[in-house]
Amino acid sequence: MPFSPFGLASYFSKALAAAGYTEPTAIQRAAIPMILQGADVLGIAKTGSGKTAAFVLPILQGLQGAPLSRHRQPRVLVLVPTRELADQVSQVFQSFIPCLSAGISCRAVYGGVSMNTQMQALGRVDVLVATPGRLLDLIDKNAVRLSEVQTLVLDEADKLLNLGFEEEVNRLLRLLPRQRQSLLFSATLNDDISQMQGLILKQPKILQI
Ligand code: AMP
Repeated sequence: MPFSPFGLASYFSKALAAAGYTEPTAIQRAAIPMILQGADVLGIAKTGSGKTAAFVLPILQGLQGAPLSRHRQPRVLVLVPTRELADQVSQVFQSFIPCLSAGISCRAVYGGVSMNTQMQALGRVDVLVATPGRLLDLIDKNAVRLSEVQTLVLDEADKLLNLGFEEEVNRLLRLLPRQRQSLLFSATLNDDISQMQGLILKQPKILQI
């Protein structure tokens, strides 16, 4: 079954074919229409399910139609537990960004590398993929603001909690606009994730794949 019945724009077709995606995975079939409608989503899906493209594609489609913000601060924030995941998620964004006519940019920031280089790269970023600690450091240095974020994604939220990022995530949440779309992906659904989703999501659609 092709992607188009799920509301995904045809300008993604070539890139989807180039990536070898002939039909959507289960999480993509369920999540793409809901994210396009603007709903908050709790997606319980493991790595390998295609969860990354399930949020990347509808988020990019949303940005395509939206006017650029005046100060060009991030409109999409993806919080991830590790630098490896930050690079992977940003590569998926980068692979589909050329499909859009709007000049959208995506950057990944994480600890363990020079902060100066990352600070310079942060001008005019639309999509920011970040580990929580480094993002807080960059905010403290006034390198980035979160006041224009319209979409928040917590990817591998169970791992974020397991690695002890709860406090950092809570600090970041206080810096985000209340009016936003929030998406939370986790491999498992446990009490901690239920509690976290209660704080972050509004009337979420719950997808358990
Ligand atoms: P993820 O679960 O996001 O880590 O994705 C796992 C792998 O599945 C990645 O290598 C993707 O490139 C691939 N993938 C994602 N969506 C599809 C699709 N619709 N068809 C085939 N492969 C896919």
